[in-house]
Order: sequence, then structure tokens, then C-alpha cells
Amino acid sequence: MPKSLIPELRGQLQQELQQLREDIFSYLQRDHADEFSHLLLQLEHQALSHWPELLRHWLTPELEQKSRRLELVQAALSQMDMGLYGLCSDCEARIERELLQQDPARQRCARCERQLHENKSRALC
Ligand SMILES: [Zn+2]
Repeated sequence: MPKSLIPELRGQLQQELQQLREDIFSYLQRDHADEFSHLLLQLEHQALSHWPELLRHWLTPELEQKSRRLELVQAALSQMDMGLYGLCSDCEARIERELLQQDPARQRCARCERQLHENKSRALC
């Protein structure tokens, strides 16, 4: 991974993190104000890294998707901090540059991603 790409991708990830935070807030406020008012209060006082844990008890399909994405984005950012960014979580090869530009929170190289999907669809048969 060329170092020069990282600041750009980090910016994208941080932007997405803010967006997810706002999305989750407005989702909870819009549709479920009563049910979620206590949860909202908790979220306001917690760091983003605790959100997936807090949201776990309340997951609707929409929240689950956002919460999972939140975890991925944060994982990618902390990998950047540790200098481990851009390595495949399965085979530890470098993830293709174009793929990271498409999705900076990506955790697998093209080959492992393909294998994962093949295994999944096989398991469903
Ligand atoms: Zn791989």
C-alpha cells in the first residue's frame, strides 16, 4: 500500500463514520422516539467504538446493517493507526489498491472475497 493513498482513504472513512453516526441518530429519533429515548441518551455519552455493543440489544435490520458497517469502518481506521491497513484478513496479502479505493473499509483481497462468497452459497445449498 503506497503511503500516499492512506490519508485520502482515512478522510473517506472518517467522513463515513460521521455519516453513520448521524444516520443512526436520525433513524432512532424519527421512527422510535419513545422506545429508543434511553438508548439515544446512552449513545450520546459513549464513544463511537461502544456503539455496536449498545446497539446489539436493539437491532432491527436497518440498524444491524449500519452497526456492522460502523464496526468495519472503525476497524479499518484502527488498522491504519497500527500500520496494518490494507492487508487481507484471511491470507494477509495486500488488498488491491482499486478495491480499497472503492471501499476503504474492505477486509479481504479479491481472491479471498470470492472464496468467501462461494463457500457461503455452497453452504446455502
Ligand atoms: Zn486474501
